[in-house]
Amino acid sequence: MDDLVAEAERRDAADPLAAYRDRFLPADGVLAYLDGNSLGRPLRATAERVTRFVRDEWATRLIRGWDEGWIDLPQRLGDRIGRIALGAAPGQVVVADSTTVLLYKLARAAVDHGLAHGRNEIVLDTDNFPTDRYVLEGIAAERGAELRWITSDPACGVTPDQVAVVAGPRTTLVVLSHVAYRSGFRADAPAITRIAHDAGALVLWDLSHSAGSVPLELDAWGADLAVGCSYKYLNGGPGAPAFGYLAARHQGVLTQPVQGWFGHRAPFEMGPGHEPAPDVRALLSGTPPVFATVPLEAGLDLLAEAGIDAVRAKSVALTDFALRIADALLVPHGVRVASPRDPERRGGHVTLCRADFEDVNDRLWKRGVIGDFRAPDGIRIGLAPLSTSYAELLAGMTALADEL
Ligand SMILES: *Cc1c(COP(=O)(O)O)cnc(C)c1O
Repeated sequence: MDDLVAEAERRDAADPLAAYRDRFLPADGVLAYLDGNSLGRPLRATAERVTRFVRDEWATRLIRGWDEGWIDLPQRLGDRIGRIALGAAPGQVVVADSTTVLLYKLARAAVDHGLAHGRNEIVLDTDNFPTDRYVLEGIAAERGAELRWITSDPACGVTPDQVAVVAGPRTTLVVLSHVAYRSGFRADAPAITRIAHDAGALVLWDLSHSAGSVPLELDAWGADLAVGCSYKYLNGGPGAPAFGYLAARHQGVLTQPVQGWFGHRAPFEMGPGHEPAPDVRALLSGTPPVFATVPLEAGLDLLAEAGIDAVRAKSVALTDFALRIADALLVPHGVRVASPRDPERRGGHVTLCRADFEDVNDRLWKRGVIGDFRAPDGIRIGLAPLSTSYAELLAGMTALADEL
């Protein structure tokens, strides 16, 4: 234990990102926040920006604000996320809707295109995030497509070999999470994308647990479609809108089903009949959620300043330290590590399991140690590198050990 305390101190002292912790608003009564992968913490700058937006933009510019920049916000912020976090060239990302809704729009666009070309199978896995599975089940029922399930190991994730077995001449779309929400397993995205393309299928990556934590190279992977949350590692705030990526080569080819006026070629002509915009704006449906993106701008400023590579380096070190604490303090008490040991295959969180963890997690919340429980028996230790110290991680996991 003394060794771990000394190591946490040493690592915090040497941490090049340590100063960023002070950019976040304090949380009274919280001993350890280990849930930044589910809801990122607010920045001090966020509070100021929200006030400034209400006073200087909404109150003062009023409806003129739309012509002065609000209209372009979905693409402007999308380009920024693309540059800072996704490895996507401009013109391929928008901010809109929720992850669930954007996933529906993109997946249906791809499935409709496949159906028109004699392909009717959607590949997905049994352990993907519930909303992804439910949306795809709905699309399959709606369009008469078939689901091809990969049975994934909940403590690990989907491998290229598993995709190669199911992807074939009937496959229209493969939908997977890049970092698995349960285990933190990081899929081999370039290899899986290649396998799907070799079968003539498209791939939709859910980047909810990757964006802002793991460097992404959507363009270099040859990715087709992607979605993700902005309220997790991007600190956009509760329910902040999602981002969607539609590779340039698919624009004007794939058409999404929620054809509202903001995705029209010329929204303010208000003409008869829908004509989709020829670019990524075709992903939009209605009025952009301008107010809900104000915190996201502060989160992106911070990530741009720190740099995703530095964030990833600390993320690997934090998850590594979490596993060493688990081995020293928890595994002897019957706790099982349900995340990959190999940092190459790991995202930004680790999951620990024991039969009584639902109760244990309730007790931890009462002590101000905030992780989250995932049925049936897992506690996720989420580690947001810009807001979490090694000492905080150790304090939280020591409290967990204490509860056992
Ligand atoms: C968090 C998360 C979501 C959430 O979708 P919402 O529409 O924002 O509720 C979707 N997919 C994955 C993989 C997630 O981790």
